[in-house]
Amino acid sequence: MDNDQEAKAIECLDRAYLMLLEQHVEGVHTQQLSAFNMARVEILTDKVSALVNLGRAEEALQIFNEARRVQALQSKEPFDGYMLDDIASFEDEENASKLMEVLKSWTDKERNTWFAYCFEDEVQDDSVISVQRAAKLTGQTNLLLEWLTASARDLPPQSLHLFNLRGAIAYIYYPVLGDIDRGKSLRQEILAMKTKPDPEFEETMNETKTQHQLQLANILFYEFQMTPDPLRKETIMETLRALPSAHGDNYDERESHVGMLYANMLRVIGPAKDYQKHMDELFKNCIDGLEDSVSWNDSPSLRLLAKVLASLDSLQRDAMIAISAQFSILDRAIHEDNADDIASESSEGLVNTGVAEADCDQATAGEEENPTASDETSENNQRDKLSGVDEAEYSDRKIGEVLDHLGVADRPEPTIEEPAKLDEDLRQGAIGCDGECGMETLSSWTQPLYYCMLCPNTDICEGCYFKRMKQTKGEIEEPWLSFCGANHHYIKGPMKDWKGIKNGVIRVGEEEIAFKEWLRGLKEERWQKAWEIFWTRQSWLKDIGVEE
Ligand SMILES: [Zn+2]
Ligand SMILES: [Zn+2]
Repeated sequence: MDNDQEAKAIECLDRAYLMLLEQHVEGVHTQQLSAFNMARVEILTDKVSALVNLGRAEEALQIFNEARRVQALQSKEPFDGYMLDDIASFEDEENASKLMEVLKSWTDKERNTWFAYCFEDEVQDDSVISVQRAAKLTGQTNLLLEWLTASARDLPPQSLHLFNLRGAIAYIYYPVLGDIDRGKSLRQEILAMKTKPDPEFEETMNETKTQHQLQLANILFYEFQMTPDPLRKETIMETLRALPSAHGDNYDERESHVGMLYANMLRVIGPAKDYQKHMDELFKNCIDGLEDSVSWNDSPSLRLLAKVLASLDSLQRDAMIAISAQFSILDRAIHEDNADDIASESSEGLVNTGVAEADCDQATAGEEENPTASDETSENNQRDKLSGVDEAEYSDRKIGEVLDHLGVADRPEPTIEEPAKLDEDLRQGAIGCDGECGMETLSSWTQPLYYCMLCPNTDICEGCYFKRMKQTKGEIEEPWLSFCGANHHYIKGPMKDWKGIKNGVIRVGEEEIAFKEWLRGLKEERWQKAWEIFWTRQSWLKDIGVEE
């Protein structure tokens, strides 16, 4: 709904409210009074939603409090979480204290209803991030922790609700507060929880477990880097190695990024022959992913491969090719075959495996809430509730008008941007910046990205990269939620003169090589060569005091 319609809806609601008040006669019996108040609440809350959509926060809050007052005449129950979330989600960027003030003005029951809405099944990420941000910026993280802990108190130990809530608590300790110890121990506890979600949420829960696992790996690597004590380093390395998989025996390429962190530790601790053995395994996983007959895993395999190759001196150009190729279709025949399979599977009503195309960035950053189901229900609720208003002889026509204006079903579908028509073969799927800029995701190289070689799965845009560098040097303050890490290293993509892949051929400047040929050469020649260099190098010895 655009702003004009929204404003018009507000007008209609005001008229309807006025009419309703005029219709009301003093001294009606209780049942009528209750219908009258319900209708008032209904109109007021609809107006709140419209004001929220228009960004008129102050007025929305004022009307909301009015609606709360009327609601209290009727029932001891707070508004449902959906309504409370509308209010909580108008947090204004400049004024983080507002959200905390609103939450403080609520009763425990109201806050817990809202938290239940946020954590019961699928986490409402936007709302949760807003409140964490507001708490951090206003120095009230302790209060938020208190609220969350209280709301977790009576939840069944195996509930997804508790699992999600504890996840939010862990997130406040780390990364929000940078409390390494609590961030680590809470995640270890969460990963050991025996949560039993409804089957429909099983997948989401495992995804969240993977996120906790990656976060834990991040913390462990940071500790490893910082400690000068080799024995402590060894213990940390062992903890990382023993991290349980969130996906059971199913291979998840992101867990190999944890494997890459383990490789980095092994390189320091040794023995070096174990380092090579482990790197060989990672390399083999990547090659398997690139040589199989599915295309959805190509991009994650290339990203992991880039990290593996970047660790060896003679393979850095190959690392750049790997990262540059992440948006490309490597083999058109396989890609089209897969697309056909996916299309026929979905038409048979089977699970669409194409979802795996989404990489971790999309899962964390771009999770669009699917409004369809809940909106339908809420529209039905509106109709049901408003039909009660008829009893109060409330104008049918107006209701229709109001409903039309409020029609949640009219919300435009999120549009998916078509990739620019470049002379190259591009896969579906996109990568976003994990910094703080909130930029749109990329589905081709319309701007450079810096792929972190130490974070389990992080890309940042140029703007955020330069910010990160300044934060590391202490020239500017860290944001409320630090991203990436100090002293991390990056591969910048795309490489110089990258022209993409077309018909399975890599094109860099004037050079052309079939992707398959590049991969064969890497697998059969350059990988072995790189290890020969590794084992014969004497990089720790330098000429001293010898004149050039
Ligand atoms: Zn950015
Ligand atoms: Zn990083």
